[in-house]
Amino acid sequence: RVPLRLRPRFSSLSSIAGSISTLVIGEHEGGAVKAPTLSAVEAAKYLGEGNSVSVLLAGTGSSLQDAAEHAASCHPSISQVIVADSDHFVHHLAEPWARLVQLVQQREGYSHIVTVSNSFGKNVLPRAAALLDVSPITDVVSISGPNQFVRPIYAGNALSTVRYTGNSPCLLSVRSTSFPEPTVAADFRAEKAPISQVDLSAFDEDSIRKSRYVKLTSQETERPDLGNAKVVVTGGRALKSAENFKMIEKLAEKLGAAVGATRAAVDAGFVPNDLQVGQTGKIVAPELYLAFGVSGAIQHVAGMRDSKVIVAVNKDSDAPIFKVADYGLVGDLFEVIPELLEKLPEK
Ligand code: FAD
Repeated sequence: RVPLRLRPRFSSLSSIAGSISTLVIGEHEGGAVKAPTLSAVEAAKYLGEGNSVSVLLAGTGSSLQDAAEHAASCHPSISQVIVADSDHFVHHLAEPWARLVQLVQQREGYSHIVTVSNSFGKNVLPRAAALLDVSPITDVVSISGPNQFVRPIYAGNALSTVRYTGNSPCLLSVRSTSFPEPTVAADFRAEKAPISQVDLSAFDEDSIRKSRYVKLTSQETERPDLGNAKVVVTGGRALKSAENFKMIEKLAEKLGAAVGATRAAVDAGFVPNDLQVGQTGKIVAPELYLAFGVSGAIQHVAGMRDSKVIVAVNKDSDAPIFKVADYGLVGDLFEVIPELLEKLPEK
């Protein structure tokens, strides 16, 4: 373990261009860094040559320590792993995390702070930005230098190139689907990155009592995580009921895929809202996206248009989903899915 080094604090945009150092706000699970965090590390590469990337991990116990060891050895760009060991960070409440980011920033003076554009990042980043008195740039899909970024607007129908002209640090949330993890050999690193502990003595607990962890309700599932799955099978309102939606789940099981849903299917109560894909749901970019009974509203397409291959089944040949589909079948899903289930081999 090495102590945190004190770096000069940058205060203006001109400093950003001169010296790049990035803090990636990391997530971990089961003793390993989550894949989207590594995408954020990958994104940081594009901020500039010689960028020194630190990953901040927090929580408690052996799972945190294992994740720190993992972070120290799993990506060539990580030059330091910073660990905050405290119960405050276990449940991903935004207030303690935002305060932690502020504390680390005050000591380290990074030019950039990057998080993933998921529910955790979307929760923490604006609060951290407020504490640091800067404006965050969200949903970044491309980075061309320390202060130039591309982000979708109008539900993904246009891309806007924005230049950050604020004070340092520049806070970004990035879409993990736009920065795939690199494939690296297991033994690519001769030396692990150093792991340092955050000194939490200045962590004022009174400032973080604004939210309280109550409970976690999650579904036990063997299926891959929707955000990272290589194959996603999505059902829309046309499924008509939760009972019928089980066809989508069976198909996903056979294909080793994640299940997605449109907002109409979620609102109708067929599936929980953590399966929603789209502008107000999850953004996915799998190798294969299968959409059954999905009209292709712009708010849905905003969440899946970057999929490599899109297959749509819809009984209306004019459905907008066919405009983004690589393969389309005009047909009744109540005939097509049973046939697929019958013909596909068991997994
Ligand atoms: P519908 O639009 O009703 O389409 C059903 C489709 O199924 C139709 O095309 C029909 O031809 C076809 N169909 C019917 N029966 C069959 C059959 N037997 N076999 C085959 N095809 C059949 N939506 C999202 O999905 N995600 C979002 O994140 C999201 N965010 C939103 C944010 C805002 C601010 C707003 C205003 C809307 C948002 N929506 C979102 C809602 C979006 O506009 C659409 O209403 C929704 O995506 C429609 O869902 P759907 O395609 O299941 O239903």
